[in-house]
Amino acid sequence: MGYSPTLRGTSVIVAGAGLAGLTAARELQRRGARVTVVEARDRLGGRVWTRREGFAEGQHAEAGGDMIDPDQEAIRRLAKDLGLTLSPILRGGFAFARQAARAPVVTRASEAGGLWAELAQAAEPWVRTHRLNERRWDGPIARQLAEQSVADWLDSIGANRQLRARLNGMRGFFLADPEHLSLLALVDQLSTESSALDHFYRIEGGNDRLATALAGTLHQPVQLKTMVRAVAAHRGKVRVTLRGRDGQSHMIADAVVLALPATMVRRLAFTPPLPPPQHQAFQDLQYGSATKTLLQFDRRFWRRAGNPLAYGTDLPIGAIWDGNEEQRGRSGILALLAGGSASRDTKQLLTQGGAEAVVRWLKWLGATKALLRASCRISWEDDPLVRGGYAVFQAGYDPEQRAWLSRPHGRILFAGEHTSLRWQGYMNGAVESGLRVAEEVTVLLAKAHRPSPGVAR
Ligand SMILES: Cc1cc2nc3c(=O)[nH]c(=O)nc-3n(C[C@H](O)[C@H](O)[C@H](O)COP(=O)(O)OP(=O)(O)OC[C@H]3O[C@@H](n4cnc5c(N)ncnc54)[C@H](O)[C@@H]3O)c2cc1C
Repeated sequence: MGYSPTLRGTSVIVAGAGLAGLTAARELQRRGARVTVVEARDRLGGRVWTRREGFAEGQHAEAGGDMIDPDQEAIRRLAKDLGLTLSPILRGGFAFARQAARAPVVTRASEAGGLWAELAQAAEPWVRTHRLNERRWDGPIARQLAEQSVADWLDSIGANRQLRARLNGMRGFFLADPEHLSLLALVDQLSTESSALDHFYRIEGGNDRLATALAGTLHQPVQLKTMVRAVAAHRGKVRVTLRGRDGQSHMIADAVVLALPATMVRRLAFTPPLPPPQHQAFQDLQYGSATKTLLQFDRRFWRRAGNPLAYGTDLPIGAIWDGNEEQRGRSGILALLAGGSASRDTKQLLTQGGAEAVVRWLKWLGATKALLRASCRISWEDDPLVRGGYAVFQAGYDPEQRAWLSRPHGRILFAGEHTSLRWQGYMNGAVESGLRVAEEVTVLLAKAHRPSPGVAR
C-alpha cells in the first residue's frame, strides 16, 4: 500500500516496543517521519513474550499474548503483511471444567457454548439496555452498570452454582474475580458480536516474530534498556527525559507516542501536567493479576480422540490449553493462565510444592501418565514494567474516565491495549491502537506543517 509521505521532515519518539508502539512506529515511518523507539526492557514485544529456553525438542510457548481470534482483522492483516504464517489452533474451542468433590466435571465445548448462552440470557436485560445506550461508557446507564460487581449481580438474580462457577472460570479471561469485576465490563463483552470461537491462531515460530518483524522494518534500531522518565512540551515540540545505559539524556521531537501500560504512564512527570481527569484516569485504572505456567511433558497426554484441547476452569490453576499443538515433537506444552485470585493460588502452589504441585491438579486430564520435562512461570503482576496482565475495569470504576486514556495531551499521544474500545486486553487492541495513534500524529503534524489560509506561499 502506498503512503504519501505527509510526515516528511518530522520526528516522532515512540516509547514502548510492544505491539502498540512498534505498529505505530512502522506506520509513522511509512508516512515519512523520522522515528525513534525507546524501550525499557532488553527485548522487544512487551507482553508478547515467546519462551524457548529450557524446553526440549526445540519447542516454545507463549508467556503473554497467545491466541488470535478469527475476527481480529488488524493483527491478522499485519502478520500477513510481514510475511508471517498464522497456524490454526484449538479447533473445537474451550470446554469448561468445574471443580467437584472427586474430579472436575467437564462440560464439552458445544455444551459450554450453551452455558455461554445461559449467561447471555441471564444478562439479557442489561445487554439490551447497554445496546440502547450504543455501548457508551458515559451517562447514567453506564454508571449504574459500572457500580455493581458481577458477584452483586449474580446474587441479585439468584444465580445457580453452575453460572457462578462459569464466571469464576472467566478469571482467566477478565483477570478479575466476580467480586471485583464491574458488571459493565461483562455486559459490554456480551454485547459485542463476535464470531463463534471454535478456533484460534498463533504465529508460526512464536508470536514474538510479530514484534521482531515490525522492528525489522524500522530504519533506526529500537533503543533497548532506555526508560522514559518525563515528557514536557518544549517550544512547540516535545522534550523527553530518558534513563539509559549511559545515565540520563534528553531527546526532542515533534511528537511523542506513549505506548506504555497505564501503570507506567502514571509514573511519568508531565509538563504541563495532564488535565486532572486524565491524570485520575491513569491513576485509577487497575491491572489484573495473571500467572502463566508453561509445562512441557514428554508426551501430549491430553490429546485423546474427541477430547478438547482447551478448558476454562474454576480450578486454582486457571484456564488450561494446548500451548504448542502446531509444533513437531513427541513432547508437548500445556499453557495455564490463572487470573485474579487464581494467580495468587497458583503462586502458592508453586512456592509450596513446585511445578509438581500444579501437575497434581491435572490428574483428571491424564497427567499421571507423563513425565514433566520443563516448566516456566511468569507472574505479570510482579513485572515492574507492567504490574499486571492487562487493564481490568473493576466495580466502582468511573466509566467516563475511559475516554481520557487515549486523549492526546498536546503533542503527547497515547496507545496500548488499555486504550482500545473494541479489543481491550488483546494483542489486536494493541495493534489497532498503534494504527489509530499513527493517524492522530499524522493529522496533528501534517496540519501543523500546512500553511494556514490567507498566508502567502
Ligand atoms: C498472561 C497474558 C495472556 C494474554 N493472552 C492474550 C491472548 O491470548 N490473546 C491476545 O490477543 N492477547 C493476550 N494478552 C494481551 C496482550 O498480550 C496485550 O494486550 C498486548 O501485548 C499489549 O501490548 P501493548 O503494546 O499495549 O503493551 P506492552 O506489550 O506492555 O508494551 C509496552 C512496552 O512499554 C515498555 N515500557 C514500560 N514502561 C516504559 C518506560 N517508562 N519507558 C520505556 N518503555 C517502557 C514495556 O517494557 C513494554 O515493552 C495476554 C496478556 C497477558 C499478560
